[in-house]
Amino acid sequence: MDPLYVARPLLPAMSDLNLLFEEIWASRIVTNEAAMHNRLEARLRERLGVPVAKLFSSGTSALQCALLSLDLPRGSEVITTPLTFPATAHAIAASGLEPVFADVDPETLTIDPRAVEKAITPRTSAVIGVHVYGTICDDDALQDLCTRNGLKLVYDAAHAFLARKGQTSTAAMGDVSIFSFHATKLFNTIEGGLATSRDPAMAERLQLSRNFGIASEESVRQVGINGKMSELHAAVGLLNLDAVEEERGARRRLRAQYDEIVRDYPGLEPQVRQEDVEQSEQYYLLRVDPRRFGFSRDELYDRLKARGIHARKYFWPICTDYDCYRGMPVASLQDTPVVEQAKTTLLCLPFHSGVTSEHVQVVTEVIESAAAEMMGRSVNG
Ligand SMILES: *Cc1c(COP(=O)(O)O)cnc(C)c1O
Repeated sequence: MDPLYVARPLLPAMSDLNLLFEEIWASRIVTNEAAMHNRLEARLRERLGVPVAKLFSSGTSALQCALLSLDLPRGSEVITTPLTFPATAHAIAASGLEPVFADVDPETLTIDPRAVEKAITPRTSAVIGVHVYGTICDDDALQDLCTRNGLKLVYDAAHAFLARKGQTSTAAMGDVSIFSFHATKLFNTIEGGLATSRDPAMAERLQLSRNFGIASEESVRQVGINGKMSELHAAVGLLNLDAVEEERGARRRLRAQYDEIVRDYPGLEPQVRQEDVEQSEQYYLLRVDPRRFGFSRDELYDRLKARGIHARKYFWPICTDYDCYRGMPVASLQDTPVVEQAKTTLLCLPFHSGVTSEHVQVVTEVIESAAAEMMGRSVNG
Protein backbone atom coordinates (compact mmCIF):
# COMPACT_ATOMS: atom_id res chain seq x y z
CA MET A 1 0.00 0.00 0.00
CA ASP A 2 1.37 3.45 -0.94
CA PRO A 3 1.60 5.95 1.89
CA LEU A 4 -1.66 7.83 2.36
CA TYR A 5 -1.61 11.55 3.14
CA VAL A 6 -4.18 13.74 4.83
CA ALA A 7 -4.97 15.60 1.59
CA ARG A 8 -4.71 14.93 -2.15
CA PRO A 9 -5.24 17.66 -4.72
CA LEU A 10 -8.24 17.51 -6.99
CA LEU A 11 -6.76 17.74 -10.52
CA PRO A 12 -8.47 18.14 -13.90
CA ALA A 13 -7.70 15.89 -16.89
CA MET A 14 -4.51 17.03 -18.67
CA SER A 15 -6.35 17.02 -22.03
CA ASP A 16 -9.02 19.44 -20.74
CA LEU A 17 -6.38 21.66 -19.18
CA ASN A 18 -4.39 21.75 -22.42
CA LEU A 19 -7.38 23.16 -24.30
CA LEU A 20 -7.56 26.08 -21.87
CA PHE A 21 -3.78 26.53 -21.89
CA GLU A 22 -3.88 26.75 -25.69
CA GLU A 23 -6.44 29.56 -25.39
CA ILE A 24 -4.15 31.39 -22.98
CA TRP A 25 -1.06 30.88 -25.18
CA ALA A 26 -2.93 32.15 -28.25
CA SER A 27 -3.90 35.34 -26.41
CA ARG A 28 -0.43 35.86 -24.92
CA ILE A 29 -2.16 37.41 -21.90
CA VAL A 30 -1.09 35.22 -19.00
CA THR A 31 -1.96 37.25 -15.91
CA ASN A 32 -3.28 40.63 -14.64
CA GLU A 33 -6.99 39.93 -14.25
CA ALA A 34 -7.54 38.53 -17.76
CA ALA A 35 -10.09 36.25 -19.45
CA MET A 36 -9.84 32.99 -17.45
CA HIS A 37 -9.55 34.94 -14.22
CA ASN A 38 -12.66 36.97 -14.97
CA ARG A 39 -14.59 33.88 -16.07
CA LEU A 40 -13.75 32.15 -12.79
CA GLU A 41 -14.71 35.21 -10.72
CA ALA A 42 -18.08 35.42 -12.48
CA ARG A 43 -18.75 31.74 -11.83
CA LEU A 44 -17.80 32.06 -8.18
CA ARG A 45 -20.05 35.09 -7.66
CA GLU A 46 -22.91 33.11 -9.10
CA ARG A 47 -22.10 29.89 -7.26
CA LEU A 48 -21.70 31.60 -3.89
CA GLY A 49 -24.53 34.07 -4.39
CA VAL A 50 -22.55 37.15 -3.37
CA PRO A 51 -22.01 40.44 -5.25
CA VAL A 52 -18.26 40.50 -4.49
CA ALA A 53 -15.90 37.56 -5.14
CA LYS A 54 -12.29 38.58 -5.84
CA LEU A 55 -9.58 36.07 -6.72
CA PHE A 56 -6.12 36.15 -5.13
CA SER A 57 -2.78 34.40 -5.47
CA SER A 58 -3.33 32.68 -2.11
CA GLY A 59 -5.64 32.61 0.89
CA THR A 60 -2.98 34.52 2.78
CA SER A 61 -2.83 37.37 0.26
CA ALA A 62 -6.65 37.45 0.27
CA LEU A 63 -6.61 37.87 4.06
CA GLN A 64 -3.90 40.52 3.96
CA CYS A 65 -5.81 42.45 1.31
CA ALA A 66 -9.07 42.07 3.24
CA LEU A 67 -7.37 43.72 6.24
CA LEU A 68 -5.88 46.45 4.01
CA SER A 69 -9.32 47.09 2.50
CA LEU A 70 -10.91 47.64 5.90
CA ASP A 71 -8.53 50.52 6.65
CA LEU A 72 -7.90 49.50 10.26
CA PRO A 73 -5.84 51.95 12.34
CA ARG A 74 -2.14 51.09 12.21
CA GLY A 75 -1.07 49.17 15.30
CA SER A 76 -4.64 48.39 16.37
CA GLU A 77 -5.54 44.98 17.81
CA VAL A 78 -7.24 42.20 15.89
CA ILE A 79 -8.71 39.38 17.95
CA THR A 80 -8.50 35.84 16.59
CA THR A 81 -8.28 32.19 17.60
CA PRO A 82 -4.98 30.46 18.38
CA LEU A 83 -6.37 27.20 16.91
CA THR A 84 -5.71 27.85 13.25
CA PHE A 85 -3.13 27.68 10.48
CA PRO A 86 -0.21 30.16 10.91
CA ALA A 87 -1.52 32.35 8.04
CA THR A 88 -4.38 33.78 10.13
CA ALA A 89 -2.19 35.35 12.82
CA HIS A 90 0.67 36.17 10.42
CA ALA A 91 -1.62 38.13 8.08
CA ILE A 92 -2.52 40.35 11.04
CA ALA A 93 1.10 40.87 12.14
CA ALA A 94 2.38 41.39 8.58
CA SER A 95 -0.26 44.11 8.09
CA GLY A 96 1.15 46.23 10.92
CA LEU A 97 -1.63 45.14 13.28
CA GLU A 98 -1.40 43.30 16.56
CA PRO A 99 -2.79 39.78 16.90
CA VAL A 100 -4.68 39.13 20.16
CA PHE A 101 -5.83 35.61 20.97
CA ALA A 102 -9.17 34.51 22.44
CA ASP A 103 -10.16 31.01 23.55
CA VAL A 104 -12.29 28.51 21.64
CA ASP A 105 -15.62 26.95 22.50
CA PRO A 106 -15.04 23.44 23.97
CA GLU A 107 -17.54 21.81 21.67
CA THR A 108 -17.19 23.57 18.31
CA LEU A 109 -13.51 24.59 18.74
CA THR A 110 -14.36 27.88 16.96
CA ILE A 111 -13.60 31.22 18.65
CA ASP A 112 -15.77 31.75 21.73
CA PRO A 113 -17.67 35.07 21.48
CA ARG A 114 -17.58 35.45 25.29
CA ALA A 115 -13.78 35.13 25.27
CA VAL A 116 -13.64 37.69 22.43
CA GLU A 117 -15.71 40.07 24.57
CA LYS A 118 -13.14 39.68 27.37
CA ALA A 119 -10.25 40.45 24.99
CA ILE A 120 -11.71 43.73 23.65
CA THR A 121 -9.76 46.89 24.56
CA PRO A 122 -10.06 50.49 23.33
CA ARG A 123 -7.40 49.55 20.71
CA THR A 124 -9.38 46.66 19.20
CA SER A 125 -10.39 47.25 15.58
CA ALA A 126 -11.48 43.87 14.22
CA VAL A 127 -12.18 40.19 14.89
CA ILE A 128 -11.17 37.29 12.64
CA GLY A 129 -13.22 34.14 13.15
CA VAL A 130 -12.01 30.86 11.63
CA HIS A 131 -14.51 28.20 10.55
CA VAL A 132 -11.96 25.64 11.68
CA TYR A 133 -12.31 22.13 10.14
CA GLY A 134 -15.41 23.48 8.40
CA THR A 135 -17.26 23.96 11.69
CA ILE A 136 -19.09 27.28 11.38
CA CYS A 137 -18.42 30.05 13.93
CA ASP A 138 -21.25 31.45 16.07
CA ASP A 139 -21.83 34.18 13.50
CA ASP A 140 -24.92 35.66 15.20
CA ALA A 141 -23.07 36.28 18.47
CA LEU A 142 -19.87 37.50 16.77
CA GLN A 143 -21.74 39.88 14.45
CA ASP A 144 -23.77 41.19 17.37
CA LEU A 145 -20.71 41.92 19.52
CA CYS A 146 -18.80 43.46 16.60
CA THR A 147 -21.75 45.73 15.79
CA ARG A 148 -22.11 46.78 19.45
CA ASN A 149 -18.39 47.55 19.74
CA GLY A 150 -17.87 49.13 16.32
CA LEU A 151 -15.51 46.36 15.15
CA LYS A 152 -15.02 44.88 11.69
CA LEU A 153 -15.70 41.17 11.35
CA VAL A 154 -13.60 39.04 9.00
CA TYR A 155 -13.87 35.30 8.47
CA ASP A 156 -11.03 32.99 7.56
CA ALA A 157 -13.21 30.50 5.70
CA ALA A 158 -10.28 28.55 4.24
CA HIS A 159 -11.93 25.34 5.49
CA ALA A 160 -15.48 26.29 4.63
CA PHE A 161 -15.82 26.70 0.86
CA LEU A 162 -19.38 25.96 -0.33
CA ALA A 163 -20.56 25.60 3.28
CA ARG A 164 -23.79 27.17 4.49
CA LYS A 165 -25.61 27.70 7.72
CA GLY A 166 -29.34 27.63 7.02
CA GLN A 167 -29.71 29.69 3.86
CA THR A 168 -26.55 31.73 4.52
CA SER A 169 -23.40 30.94 2.58
CA THR A 170 -20.10 31.31 4.45
CA ALA A 171 -19.24 33.77 1.66
CA ALA A 172 -21.94 36.14 2.96
CA MET A 173 -20.91 36.40 6.61
CA GLY A 174 -19.17 39.33 8.31
CA ASP A 175 -17.63 42.25 6.41
CA VAL A 176 -15.31 40.03 4.35
CA SER A 177 -14.68 36.27 4.14
CA ILE A 178 -11.56 34.74 2.68
CA PHE A 179 -11.02 31.28 1.20
CA SER A 180 -7.87 29.36 0.32
CA PHE A 181 -7.63 27.53 -3.01
CA HIS A 182 -4.35 25.84 -2.08
CA ALA A 183 -3.74 22.32 -3.40
CA THR A 184 -4.67 20.82 -0.02
CA LYS A 185 -8.08 22.46 0.07
CA LEU A 186 -11.40 20.95 -1.09
CA PHE A 187 -11.42 23.20 -4.15
CA ASN A 188 -8.01 24.23 -5.46
CA THR A 189 -6.32 26.31 -8.14
CA ILE A 190 -2.93 24.81 -7.01
CA GLU A 191 -2.14 28.12 -5.28
CA GLY A 192 -4.93 30.66 -4.94
CA GLY A 193 -7.50 32.38 -2.80
CA LEU A 194 -10.72 34.36 -2.77
CA ALA A 195 -12.24 37.23 -0.81
CA THR A 196 -16.02 37.66 -0.74
CA SER A 197 -18.36 40.29 0.64
CA ARG A 198 -22.02 41.24 0.75
CA ASP A 199 -20.98 44.88 0.45
CA PRO A 200 -20.57 46.00 -3.20
CA ALA A 201 -18.26 48.82 -2.03
CA MET A 202 -15.66 46.21 -1.04
CA ALA A 203 -15.13 45.15 -4.68
CA GLU A 204 -13.00 48.12 -5.66
CA ARG A 205 -11.02 48.20 -2.42
CA LEU A 206 -10.12 44.50 -2.66
CA GLN A 207 -9.23 44.88 -6.32
CA LEU A 208 -6.93 47.85 -5.66
CA SER A 209 -5.23 46.19 -2.71
CA ARG A 210 -4.39 43.05 -4.71
CA ASN A 211 -2.90 45.12 -7.58
CA PHE A 212 -0.44 47.51 -5.87
CA GLY A 213 -3.20 50.09 -5.31
CA ILE A 214 -3.05 50.96 -9.01
CA ALA A 215 -6.25 52.72 -10.08
CA SER A 216 -5.13 53.65 -13.61
CA GLU A 217 -1.93 54.07 -15.65
CA GLU A 218 -1.26 57.37 -13.96
CA SER A 219 -2.73 56.92 -10.52
CA VAL A 220 -1.84 54.81 -7.50
CA ARG A 221 -4.53 55.36 -4.91
CA GLN A 222 -3.63 53.21 -1.91
CA VAL A 223 -1.19 50.73 -0.39
CA GLY A 224 -1.41 47.36 -2.06
CA ILE A 225 0.51 44.17 -2.79
CA ASN A 226 0.77 41.74 -5.68
CA GLY A 227 -2.04 39.34 -4.83
CA LYS A 228 -3.16 38.54 -8.38
CA MET A 229 -4.07 35.08 -9.68
CA SER A 230 -2.50 34.04 -13.01
CA GLU A 231 -4.46 32.74 -16.01
CA LEU A 232 -2.95 29.26 -15.60
CA HIS A 233 -4.20 28.97 -12.04
CA ALA A 234 -7.62 30.31 -13.03
CA ALA A 235 -7.83 27.68 -15.79
CA VAL A 236 -7.25 24.91 -13.24
CA GLY A 237 -9.98 26.50 -11.12
CA LEU A 238 -12.52 26.61 -13.96
CA LEU A 239 -12.10 22.86 -14.52
CA ASN A 240 -11.96 21.91 -10.85
CA LEU A 241 -15.15 23.84 -10.13
CA ASP A 242 -16.99 21.33 -12.34
CA ALA A 243 -15.59 18.42 -10.31
CA VAL A 244 -15.77 19.76 -6.78
CA GLU A 245 -19.25 18.44 -5.92
CA GLU A 246 -18.23 14.91 -6.88
CA GLU A 247 -15.16 15.17 -4.65
CA ARG A 248 -17.32 16.51 -1.86
CA GLY A 249 -19.77 13.63 -2.27
CA ALA A 250 -16.93 11.09 -1.96
CA ARG A 251 -15.79 12.80 1.23
CA ARG A 252 -19.32 12.81 2.63
CA ARG A 253 -19.44 9.02 2.18
CA LEU A 254 -15.98 8.67 3.74
CA ARG A 255 -17.11 10.76 6.72
CA ALA A 256 -19.99 8.34 7.27
CA GLN A 257 -17.57 5.38 7.14
CA TYR A 258 -15.16 6.96 9.64
CA ASP A 259 -18.07 7.92 11.94
CA GLU A 260 -19.23 4.31 11.86
CA ILE A 261 -15.82 3.06 13.08
CA VAL A 262 -15.31 5.75 15.69
CA ARG A 263 -18.71 5.58 17.37
CA ASP A 264 -17.98 2.16 18.93
CA TYR A 265 -15.14 3.53 21.06
CA PRO A 266 -15.62 5.65 24.18
CA GLY A 267 -12.98 8.35 24.16
CA LEU A 268 -12.99 8.76 20.38
CA GLU A 269 -15.21 11.54 19.19
CA PRO A 270 -15.81 12.89 15.72
CA GLN A 271 -16.13 16.60 15.04
CA VAL A 272 -19.45 18.12 16.16
CA ARG A 273 -22.28 17.87 13.71
CA GLN A 274 -23.96 21.28 13.58
CA GLU A 275 -27.73 21.51 13.12
CA ASP A 276 -28.68 23.33 9.97
CA VAL A 277 -25.11 23.38 8.56
CA GLU A 278 -24.08 22.02 5.18
CA GLN A 279 -20.44 21.01 5.73
CA SER A 280 -17.69 21.89 3.29
CA GLU A 281 -16.07 18.45 3.85
CA GLN A 282 -12.58 19.91 4.15
CA TYR A 283 -11.36 17.78 7.08
CA TYR A 284 -12.27 14.75 9.13
CA LEU A 285 -11.41 15.64 12.71
CA LEU A 286 -11.07 12.97 15.38
CA ARG A 287 -10.81 13.92 19.05
CA VAL A 288 -8.90 11.42 21.19
CA ASP A 289 -9.54 11.58 24.94
CA PRO A 290 -6.56 9.68 26.40
CA ARG A 291 -8.28 9.01 29.73
CA ARG A 292 -11.33 7.38 28.18
CA PHE A 293 -9.75 5.78 25.11
CA GLY A 294 -6.57 4.70 26.91
CA PHE A 295 -4.30 5.75 24.07
CA SER A 296 -3.19 9.31 23.46
CA ARG A 297 -3.58 11.21 20.20
CA ASP A 298 0.18 10.95 19.68
CA GLU A 299 0.21 7.16 20.16
CA LEU A 300 -2.63 6.75 17.68
CA TYR A 301 -0.84 9.05 15.21
CA ASP A 302 2.37 6.96 15.50
CA ARG A 303 0.53 3.67 15.01
CA LEU A 304 -1.29 4.94 11.93
CA LYS A 305 1.98 6.27 10.54
CA ALA A 306 3.67 2.89 11.06
CA ARG A 307 0.98 1.44 8.77
CA GLY A 308 1.48 4.13 6.09
CA ILE A 309 -1.48 6.32 7.13
CA HIS A 310 -0.26 9.89 7.60
CA ALA A 311 -2.79 11.72 9.77
CA ARG A 312 -2.04 15.31 10.87
CA LYS A 313 -2.11 16.89 14.32
CA TYR A 314 -3.97 20.01 13.12
CA PHE A 315 -3.52 22.51 14.73
CA TRP A 316 -0.57 21.63 16.87
CA PRO A 317 1.36 23.74 17.69
CA ILE A 318 -1.23 26.47 18.28
CA CYS A 319 -0.27 30.10 17.46
CA THR A 320 0.80 30.93 21.02
CA ASP A 321 3.32 28.04 20.83
CA TYR A 322 5.17 29.61 17.85
CA ASP A 323 8.47 31.34 18.55
CA CYS A 324 7.01 34.67 17.36
CA TYR A 325 3.86 34.64 19.55
CA ARG A 326 5.07 32.47 22.44
CA GLY A 327 3.79 33.50 25.83
CA MET A 328 1.08 35.79 24.49
CA PRO A 329 -2.04 35.39 26.63
CA VAL A 330 -5.20 33.65 25.42
CA ALA A 331 -8.28 35.48 26.77
CA SER A 332 -10.45 32.81 28.35
CA LEU A 333 -13.32 32.18 30.75
CA GLN A 334 -11.22 29.37 32.29
CA ASP A 335 -8.00 29.48 34.31
CA THR A 336 -6.41 27.23 31.71
CA PRO A 337 -7.75 28.04 28.26
CA VAL A 338 -9.90 25.36 26.61
CA VAL A 339 -7.53 25.39 23.62
CA GLU A 340 -4.57 24.23 25.77
CA GLN A 341 -6.30 20.97 26.60
CA ALA A 342 -7.94 20.52 23.21
CA LYS A 343 -4.70 20.89 21.24
CA THR A 344 -3.33 17.57 22.57
CA THR A 345 -6.39 15.60 21.42
CA LEU A 346 -6.91 16.63 17.79
CA LEU A 347 -6.15 14.39 14.83
CA CYS A 348 -7.18 14.88 11.20
CA LEU A 349 -7.50 11.61 9.25
CA PRO A 350 -6.77 11.35 5.50
CA PHE A 351 -9.88 12.79 3.88
CA HIS A 352 -10.26 12.77 0.09
CA SER A 353 -11.56 10.66 -2.77
CA GLY A 354 -8.26 8.73 -2.95
CA VAL A 355 -8.93 7.00 0.37
CA THR A 356 -9.91 3.41 -0.50
CA SER A 357 -11.79 0.76 1.47
CA GLU A 358 -8.40 -0.88 2.03
CA HIS A 359 -7.19 2.30 3.73
CA VAL A 360 -10.33 2.49 5.85
CA GLN A 361 -9.73 -1.15 6.85
CA VAL A 362 -6.22 -0.29 8.07
CA VAL A 363 -7.57 2.64 10.13
CA THR A 364 -10.17 0.27 11.60
CA GLU A 365 -7.49 -2.31 12.48
CA VAL A 366 -5.23 0.24 14.15
CA ILE A 367 -8.07 1.57 16.32
CA GLU A 368 -9.37 -1.95 17.09
CA SER A 369 -5.96 -3.24 18.14
CA ALA A 370 -5.29 -0.18 20.33
CA ALA A 371 -8.66 -0.65 22.03
CA ALA A 372 -8.06 -4.40 22.45
CA GLU A 373 -4.69 -3.72 24.03
CA MET A 374 -6.30 -1.35 26.48
CA MET A 375 -8.86 -4.00 27.42
CA GLY A 376 -5.94 -6.37 28.04
CA ARG A 377 -4.18 -3.78 30.14
CA SER A 378 -7.22 -3.12 32.32
CA VAL A 379 -8.08 -6.84 32.72
CA ASN A 380 -4.51 -7.74 33.66
CA GLY A 381 -3.89 -4.60 35.67
C1 LIG B 1 -4.78 27.01 4.15
C2 LIG B 1 -5.16 28.03 5.15
C3 LIG B 1 -4.83 29.39 4.99
C4 LIG B 1 -3.82 29.88 3.98
O1 LIG B 1 -4.15 29.72 2.69
P1 LIG B 1 -2.98 29.75 1.57
O2 LIG B 1 -3.81 29.66 0.34
O3 LIG B 1 -2.12 28.57 1.79
O4 LIG B 1 -2.27 31.04 1.69
C5 LIG B 1 -5.34 30.31 5.88
N1 LIG B 1 -6.08 29.93 6.93
C6 LIG B 1 -6.39 28.64 7.14
C7 LIG B 1 -7.24 28.29 8.32
C8 LIG B 1 -5.91 27.64 6.28
O5 LIG B 1 -6.16 26.35 6.53
